[in-house]
Amino acid sequence: MRHSKVVVRFAPSPTGFLHLGGARTALFNYLFAKKNNGQFILRIEDTDLVRSKKEFEQDIKDSLEWLGLKWDKIFYQSQRKEIYRKFLEQLLEEGKAFYCNHQKRAADDGFSGPHFCSLRDKCGEKPRFNDRFIIRFKTPRGRDIVFNDIIRGRITVNTETLGDFAIARSLKEPLYNFAAMIDDWQMKISHIIRGEDHISNTPKQILLYEAFKVEKLPLYAHLPLILGKDYSKMSKRHGDTALHIYKQKGFLPEAIINFLVFLGWNPKNDREIFSLQELEREFILKDVQKKGAIFNLDKLLWFNRNYIRKKNLEELIDLTRESFVKEYGSKFDLAFLARVIEIERERANTIVDIVKNSHYLFRVPHYSRDLLLWKEMDFNDVKRALLYAKELINKLSNTESDNRDKLKEVFLREAGIFDGDRGRLLWPLRVALSGLKTSASPFEIVYVLGKDESLSRIDKALAILIT
Ligand code: GLU
Repeated sequence: MRHSKVVVRFAPSPTGFLHLGGARTALFNYLFAKKNNGQFILRIEDTDLVRSKKEFEQDIKDSLEWLGLKWDKIFYQSQRKEIYRKFLEQLLEEGKAFYCNHQKRAADDGFSGPHFCSLRDKCGEKPRFNDRFIIRFKTPRGRDIVFNDIIRGRITVNTETLGDFAIARSLKEPLYNFAAMIDDWQMKISHIIRGEDHISNTPKQILLYEAFKVEKLPLYAHLPLILGKDYSKMSKRHGDTALHIYKQKGFLPEAIINFLVFLGWNPKNDREIFSLQELEREFILKDVQKKGAIFNLDKLLWFNRNYIRKKNLEELIDLTRESFVKEYGSKFDLAFLARVIEIERERANTIVDIVKNSHYLFRVPHYSRDLLLWKEMDFNDVKRALLYAKELINKLSNTESDNRDKLKEVFLREAGIFDGDRGRLLWPLRVALSGLKTSASPFEIVYVLGKDESLSRIDKALAILIT
């Protein structure tokens, strides 16, 4: 029997910052819920009191909000201990779970074989007070557990490979498989969409559903691993993994969303740009691929450039203004800032680039006079070019100097008149205005700086020539 309403959950443990893999799991759950008019639950799995941190919980929530993945409900496992206790007691009473004092195997992690415990038939026996016991599930022997994964098809696991797995450290300390299953059941989760690293947990959780005689089981979809370019599992070695770092580095949430969805999904045509709203309609869970998805930073940068281009100037001002003030002080007006952004956005991969790359518009860096030389020019040629440029700028009317296209037209025309090789005018002029080897073009800089500042920078260059 299946659930009639779609309810999904993203269930992070707040033991670290939200990473790309987690964000993708959240996104796929969110999209699946939207597509099916379902509910998207955020469940903070904070039963591990030692490793769970408020700071990480906040980071997870902030990151999801930043991405625009709104949850319909939020639950905290730490507030649900009584529920788990009740169900643990039920299993113990019914002889389906038992106390075990084989401590080394407590977390079921890192031991070599499955543990079928010698105490499994002593269910219900209370441990002596001083002994450190854990609670294990009494796994039925020799059975095949079969489930149909939406992405990977039929998966069969024999219970002999599972052993009597641990479900709680004590009545007050349920472990992941148990708490997650109880919640999935109680919250009527219809589809469990999570990383492939959880496939091994699924048969254990199915056994628990059976133990409680639950009729409606969820469907499972295990998402492919995210791999680095060398096909090994994505790690810090391949690039940043924490989502907040991408925000810090000037990536837009739209770009991250678009990038993440392609880590496993594609629309089966060559369309690449999708907004979150579009994905809410287009995303099809069963089209997610089985094979690992390769993390490609260049692709992310490409998406980001794309979305930066799509933003209007007001939006970009809002996104960068604070950083501009932090970086260059507040002695600039909005009109100036708008022009800076207008020209720098075109060269920027990130929001941070827009701010950092435009430092020369706020102050001229020191540069050596050799930089003013273009090809085989000498300093006399440079001087002639700069004087010519000065005259040209002086002659510009205000309507001309306020119009980017017009400036371009005038400068290109005049550079042609000055010399067949336009670089002989444009290069020294650009260096005089920017002090840099690479910058926006001279007519764009004049557009941003205005006539007076441009002329004063040219004068400085002329002074350098004499020294
Ligand atoms: N808390 C688990 C994790 O973060 C959840 C796994 C699941 O979705 O069941 O990996």
